[in-house]
Amino acid sequence: MPTIQEELDRRQLLYSLLMPVMNLYVAGLDKGKGLYFLFVKSESKTPGGLPARPVLTSYYKSHHFRARPFDPYNVYTSPTAAILCADAFQSMYSQMLCGLLDRLAVLRVGAVFASGLLRAIRFLQLHWQEFARDIATGTLSSMVTDAAVRDAVAEVLKPDPGLAEFIVSECAAGDWAGVVTRIWPNTKYLDVIVTGAMAQYIPTLEYYSGGLPMTCTMYASSECYFGLNLRPMCKPREVSYTIMPNMAYFEFLPVDPAAAAASGPPPQLVDLADVEVGQEYELVITTYAGLCRYRVGDILHVTGFHNAAPQFRFVRRKNVLLSIESDKTDEAELQRAVERATELLKPWGATVVEYTSQAETRAIPGHYVIYWELLVKEGEGGRWPGKEVLQACCLEMEEAMNTVYRQSRAADGSIGPLEIRVVRGGTFEELMDYAIARGASINQYKAPRCVTFPPIIELLDSRVVEAHFSPATPEWSPRRNY
Ligand code: AMP
Repeated sequence: MPTIQEELDRRQLLYSLLMPVMNLYVAGLDKGKGLYFLFVKSESKTPGGLPARPVLTSYYKSHHFRARPFDPYNVYTSPTAAILCADAFQSMYSQMLCGLLDRLAVLRVGAVFASGLLRAIRFLQLHWQEFARDIATGTLSSMVTDAAVRDAVAEVLKPDPGLAEFIVSECAAGDWAGVVTRIWPNTKYLDVIVTGAMAQYIPTLEYYSGGLPMTCTMYASSECYFGLNLRPMCKPREVSYTIMPNMAYFEFLPVDPAAAAASGPPPQLVDLADVEVGQEYELVITTYAGLCRYRVGDILHVTGFHNAAPQFRFVRRKNVLLSIESDKTDEAELQRAVERATELLKPWGATVVEYTSQAETRAIPGHYVIYWELLVKEGEGGRWPGKEVLQACCLEMEEAMNTVYRQSRAADGSIGPLEIRVVRGGTFEELMDYAIARGASINQYKAPRCVTFPPIIELLDSRVVEAHFSPATPEWSPRRNY
């Protein structure tokens, strides 16, 4: 994505509005700190010689972030050197360690997307013994070799056997329910985006945080920052973002499935000021950095206005995820189907931590494969769901699919039974590691909701512990046409 120097000022403007808005709803945020897991990536060069790096790396490396003046509302436990360390392990290790050292000062815990925060919690689960040892002795693990990070951590790391014991007592039992509030008891909310593709992490985050509110503060992309949520403490389902008209020139392409099917003239672009409440639009931007009438690929629903500025609920990213033949299943539909099937897991104390899918077309008829990583809350009487339960989940997902899918399954037989492949714990983290090793940014990483790249499919398949198929065909009748 092209960008220019002055774009940083615009982004800074949006960032600078987040805490004043939050301050309207949560008092005393200037009396403590934020534990945020933020990361940079090393940069590369385009063939033409321009530097290329993820948008958040640009921001964290910028003067705006590094030389930010002291602001009591924006004090982080993570030293800037730890955030700027391009080695993901050392960066995460030192950020978590500093968060543990300052645990009572922490008032909010966050990452950019929900997946980043879950990765940090997983890191704590894997490394709490090392953290306890470092804190007990007051010496940083030799695994952290970056000199700037070591210097920054040395300023806050002193022997504290009491804290080390506390960490052991909280982590050794392997009970992770409510771990965020147990270790950081003054946390008032989680600052993570859980709208859009991130919605499926909500139950897992609720489990780890003991039900803390989750705030989705802003809506942005590599191409352009869009706007902010003026009611950040609302429920994730109610989140609307107010687009800031000064970030770019915004236009909207009405989404009208009936008109699209009728192959009439293409719909006309609508200006920001002219969008209608209740309508869905695809976002089109013309940016200061040179994108012209660029389709971001996001579908937004107009929920209302803040003064004259329209507000939007993020609906989905526009693209079809799965298709075997004429069926088209998008991300929102797959998400709904997974949510519906997950209801059947509740009596077992199990949740889907992460999922992805694949249109398996090697055999005829092809079928949908959904990869699930499960979390079973064993400490709370949960049990691993058996074969019948998972088969019922397969069928439940099929029942949740659109009429074209169900017709193909039930009447045409052109799609085979849906399959759930349960992968072992930690598989999706490996997937993330793989993506990061290939150049993805930790901050901006989102688990793909559909996989097509053969090495990724191989990785997933090599971690499968159980596979189950839908035992029956979903309901379909020519009359039930929706
Ligand atoms: P990237 O350029 O990789 O950071 O991805 C930007 C995309 O992430 C956007 O176009 C959206 O599809 C998604 N995204 C960013 N912020 C949000 C948000 N607050 N809620 C839902 N999706 C978001």
